[in-house]
Amino acid sequence: MPDTRKVMLIGCGMVGMSYAYALLNQNIVDELVLVDVNKDKAMGEAMDLNHGLAFASSSMKIYAGDYSDAKDADIVVIAAGVNQKPGESRIDLLGRNTAVFKSIIEPVVASGFSGIFLIATNPVDVMSQITLKLSGFSPDKVIGSGTTLDTARLRYLIGAKLKIDPRNVHAYVIGEHGDSEFVPWSQAHVSTVSLDEIKAKNPDRDSDFDMSEIEVEVREAAQKIIAAKNATYYGIGMALVRITRAIFSNEHSILTISSLVDGEYGISGAYLGLPCIVGREGRIKLIELDLNNEEHKKLEHSAAVIKDAFSCIQF
Ligand code: NAD
Repeated sequence: MPDTRKVMLIGCGMVGMSYAYALLNQNIVDELVLVDVNKDKAMGEAMDLNHGLAFASSSMKIYAGDYSDAKDADIVVIAAGVNQKPGESRIDLLGRNTAVFKSIIEPVVASGFSGIFLIATNPVDVMSQITLKLSGFSPDKVIGSGTTLDTARLRYLIGAKLKIDPRNVHAYVIGEHGDSEFVPWSQAHVSTVSLDEIKAKNPDRDSDFDMSEIEVEVREAAQKIIAAKNATYYGIGMALVRITRAIFSNEHSILTISSLVDGEYGISGAYLGLPCIVGREGRIKLIELDLNNEEHKKLEHSAAVIKDAFSCIQF
């Protein structure tokens, strides 16, 4: 990877620009190219960010560009998409977003880009799988934000209940980033102690919380935020920055990105959010958790949901 850390962001809406703003504030990249079908928007956003450079902790080259600029980019982040029209089915929306992705992936690949695709557009697991198909890249180089944001929400809620720093909570939301996602509670730990053990040994008020309530709260968080302010964007912007940092710093961090499951968990041919080791080459390894039977069935259900949606797409 060259010394200059270069990202192309495609889609300068709320999610894309929350990511860009967080990148600027966290000194993660050296060069950021903004691309949007609305060229004025990309230009205006680049100007606005550039005017903040004088107050930033490091320098950064930011400009509105076009797909040919992807040639030497390390990561292409896609947060472009169209919104669901009233009465439109999820499959119709998928069809329109597939057309959007065709208009993006083809010129990006034609530029000579050979880095990592990081997808945020919803439904993120299916859109990531579409990117894999359209790009012809290796699966390790095509990843989605998956359940990274959901996992962060879960850790925040468990941490708040137990009065523990969420960074010391080791628990995941896995599966589809959507209605069939779930928490494999058998795998949830605080420090090295399982959550079941903590609850059994400390039947006091703070640790006596309802796990299923927390799980529902995580699953419904996006809808609650959308009802209150129409969209969610800061959390996902930060999640994308976290993944970007893990790639550029070759961290080998474990993050619940969405990636192709190919035999792991007895599942094949579906993108799912699962803990993966993430580093400079993208997904380094998908980790197999020791799920119990019930959890395994839930993961299979998530895989069926993604496969079903993917099979409806006409390429
Ligand atoms: P938005 O409408 O604010 O922005 C979308 C942008 O995409 C717009 O600027 C639009 O001009 C651009 N665009 C549309 N078609 C394009 C094309 N063909 N080429 C280039 N750019 C194009 O939407 P948003 O709130 O920023 O959300 C973006 C996506 O992120 C949505 O699909 C949303 O559901 C998703 N999202 C994902 C997560 C997650 O956890 N993965 C969380 C929140 C939102």
